[in-house]
Amino acid sequence: MIQNNASLLDNLEKDCLSCQRCDLSRGRHNVVFGVGAPDAEVLFIGEGPGEQEDLKGEPFVGKAGILLDKMLRAVDLDRNKNIYIANIVKCRPPQNRDPLPEEQELCIAWLRRQFALIRPKIIVCLGRIAAARIIKPDIRIKKEHGKIFRKGGVIMMPILHPAALLRNPADKPAAFEDFLRLQQLIEEHCEHTYDKLNSE
Ligand code: SF4
Repeated sequence: MIQNNASLLDNLEKDCLSCQRCDLSRGRHNVVFGVGAPDAEVLFIGEGPGEQEDLKGEPFVGKAGILLDKMLRAVDLDRNKNIYIANIVKCRPPQNRDPLPEEQELCIAWLRRQFALIRPKIIVCLGRIAAARIIKPDIRIKKEHGKIFRKGGVIMMPILHPAALLRNPADKPAAFEDFLRLQQLIEEHCEHTYDKLNSE
């Protein structure tokens, strides 16, 4: 089952790597498909690749990604073992602008197919753009981060984007509270997330 998921995700990634559905394909170095466990019970969703991500082809590898990994580790989560990380758009918007609604609309099909294969129990939206797209369009991220939403049998939580935390370090304690709430949710609703951390 896991192997099957992995190979289906690999096939999907191969298709995605040649995608030219929107104009973001023109300026990219790499399509940033996603990274993580193919059977992850927790799916993190960001808005789109930045400069470092575009160069390396992996989500959240710049300074914001380093902070994200630290916060993940603090609650026993690891992108290489027990979660999956993907973005709303897979190619870098120029000058790191917000992805346009039409770009999101064209790209979201890839994320839907990732979701259908991974079948996570919990979705964590990193920042306003992802939360507005996945949870509700009028999300107020500064007020509603850490709140729990339920849609289609999936638990969803918006959190502050790690890049926003780098700009406003005073928000880090509140962000950490959200990670602790997430840890509790995982303990209550997930079966193997924490077992996988200790597997090879
Ligand atoms: S952003 Fe998405 S839809 Fe646009 S070219 Fe890249 S993969 Fe395709």
